[in-house]
Amino acid sequence: MEKSNKRPKNILKLDETVVNRIAAGEIIQRPANALKEMLENCLDAGSTSIQVTVKDGGLKLLKIQDNGSGINKEDFAIVCERFTTSKLQKFEDLNAIGTFGFRGEALASISHVAHLTIITKTSEMQCAYKCSYHDGKLVGAPKPCAGTQGTQIVVEDLFYNVPTRKNSLRSPSEEHNRIIEVVTRFAVHNASVGFSLKKLNDNGSDVRTSPNSTQEDNIRILYGHAVAKDLIKLQVEDPSLKVKVNGLISNVDYSGTKFTILLFINHRLVESTPLKRALDSVYATYLAKGKHPFVYLSIEIAPNCVDVNVHPTKHEVHFLNEDAIIHKIQSSADMLLKAASTSRSFAVQTVIPPISFLDKQHSKVAGAKVYDKQLVRTDSRDQKIDKFLSTTMESMPLSSSSECNFINQTSMESFEEPVAAGFQQKETEKRIPSEAEREIQGVPDCSDSTMRHRGSTAQGIVERRQFELTSLTQLREDVKKNTDQVLRDTFKDSIFVGCVSEKHCLIQYGTRLYIFHMERVAEEFFYQRFLDEFGNCGVICLSDPPPLYNLALMALDQEENAWHPDDGPKDHLANLASQLLFSKSEMLDDYFSLQINEKRHLVAIPLLLVDYIPDLTQFPSFVLRLASDVEWNVEKDCFDTICRVMARFYRKPNDHKVLNVGSDKDWKWTVEHVLYPAIKASLLPPKTWINDGTILQIADLPDLYKVFERC
Ligand code: ADP
Ligand code: MG
Repeated sequence: MEKSNKRPKNILKLDETVVNRIAAGEIIQRPANALKEMLENCLDAGSTSIQVTVKDGGLKLLKIQDNGSGINKEDFAIVCERFTTSKLQKFEDLNAIGTFGFRGEALASISHVAHLTIITKTSEMQCAYKCSYHDGKLVGAPKPCAGTQGTQIVVEDLFYNVPTRKNSLRSPSEEHNRIIEVVTRFAVHNASVGFSLKKLNDNGSDVRTSPNSTQEDNIRILYGHAVAKDLIKLQVEDPSLKVKVNGLISNVDYSGTKFTILLFINHRLVESTPLKRALDSVYATYLAKGKHPFVYLSIEIAPNCVDVNVHPTKHEVHFLNEDAIIHKIQSSADMLLKAASTSRSFAVQTVIPPISFLDKQHSKVAGAKVYDKQLVRTDSRDQKIDKFLSTTMESMPLSSSSECNFINQTSMESFEEPVAAGFQQKETEKRIPSEAEREIQGVPDCSDSTMRHRGSTAQGIVERRQFELTSLTQLREDVKKNTDQVLRDTFKDSIFVGCVSEKHCLIQYGTRLYIFHMERVAEEFFYQRFLDEFGNCGVICLSDPPPLYNLALMALDQEENAWHPDDGPKDHLANLASQLLFSKSEMLDDYFSLQINEKRHLVAIPLLLVDYIPDLTQFPSFVLRLASDVEWNVEKDCFDTICRVMARFYRKPNDHKVLNVGSDKDWKWTVEHVLYPAIKASLLPPKTWINDGTILQIADLPDLYKVFERC
């Protein structure tokens, strides 16, 4: 083997400025870090008012003015040297440290990576003094100037001499947002101090709180009323663990899109991943999937139990008895949430009937007195006369039961719900409708019937196909897991009141009136139907099969589909869409009854409900979406996205007044007598609908009584 003739290189001591610059880079990673250090200094100096001004996310300018103690003249020369501090003398002092800083590194670090100027005045000074610093050293003599008591620290051109760091930062607006986050958190925790944050030359401020506010006040001002109104006080004290916790946490009625956590340990803004995880797991049992809480916690631990040396920025901390303390906080939060959820009250725009309402229903059974205002004079099983009035003779037999409108046997048996079970009994007795019943006016058939059931034999016996696909089972499981049971019952026992608009309908449940977003509800319903009827959908044949190419081209011409010249020529795209769908035609037909012939014409679409034809004006968009929005490569995602695209197409019924096809009924009739009964019978509403406005309570009889009693 060849011998290496490499000699070890000589070890040299690094230049002090280089050492300091490296250290500075570790401590000051971005403008928000620098600001945090300086805010801590202001608080250590006993300030009651702190004003922050920034330019370009703090990269151009970061100015912090406080009204604290100021800095003594004799310290001007050393204040920015490394390891100079007024807060610590012996190592033992660390055990009882009550201030934020103690390592004397912040100002020194900043002076190595930015231009730093300090203007300060103590109560003993006649005037203020202005000092400039470079690489930890005072530049020139301190200059007397005008100024009030306190300290103003000006940091300009941060990272001017560390271009790699500067370039690695996000945009100034992102850095500005981080600064807002830091100031906001400090303002909530230090409610007795007034904070303000503004951009240089801007009139308005991003953060403004007054001195002597409460933490609740500041949360309301800074995070909004929606957060502040739902807070619960959390208090834990355990002398054996030497810990005291005070906090304000959101209750079960609040659900944010991200987890907001404000964590202070010994009044220092920190992060603790294990604590965050523990709290997230508590809330997971109370909040809908993808929803998160707001948590503000101030933990005080005996200083000798905190290990502050974990990270130079002291950001992520560890402490003695960490697991036990986290467990204590976790169980206390859980208890509070449990208590809050049993008395769960909803704002007017929520849907769940409070427990008290359900109790009333039970008390009725127990023979207790029922007041007028609690009387429900309707029955969800009632039918209205208009259902029969506009019905043609052919479809009369089908409409005799509002819950019998499915042509196919559903797979609801898997849902094990009482009503679904009852509903299913009817299903099993059901027969395939006769030719006359199935005829769709204006859509002449392309086979011997316009609507037929997949797998139906000449005798009309339905042979249901079973699929053992994991992806499909998972998608069905996801729907079940995500179901809100109270909402499910609300739909199940509701009465349809009427359509308010094409998008909104009213229903009554008990003594309550609700409005719901029809398109959203119908889309979810059809999504679930497509999963249930996978491989078993009926077929609606199209009399004059339209070419996929033409449909895709029409869609590209429609404004809603937002074609852009960068996408490529329309005819080319339409061709690609038609080619792609044709290549998938076997699967689309087999699983979804979507049939495409050799000529790439659309021959048939799936049938999910008798008397229900989707809004055919949406055909072009449907074809385009099917080609562009489906994830063809991963099985589960593929089924999921196909069902979503299909459901979107089916969510609106066809209106015979617009396209005289398939039925002589208008959309309102179809919604009330075909779609809604089916929704009522089988929809599994997702938990997210509780808070996203899909369904809102708009009136409640007892409340109306209160109003009228006053009149
Ligand atoms: P540390 O806070 O760890 O002591 P710093 O570098 O942050 O180190 O600050 C160095 C010293 O400068 C502090 O100990 C304090 O005496 C003084 N100082 C910094 N900022 C202020 C301020 N806003 N008001 C009064 N004194 C300050
Ligand atoms: Mg400090």
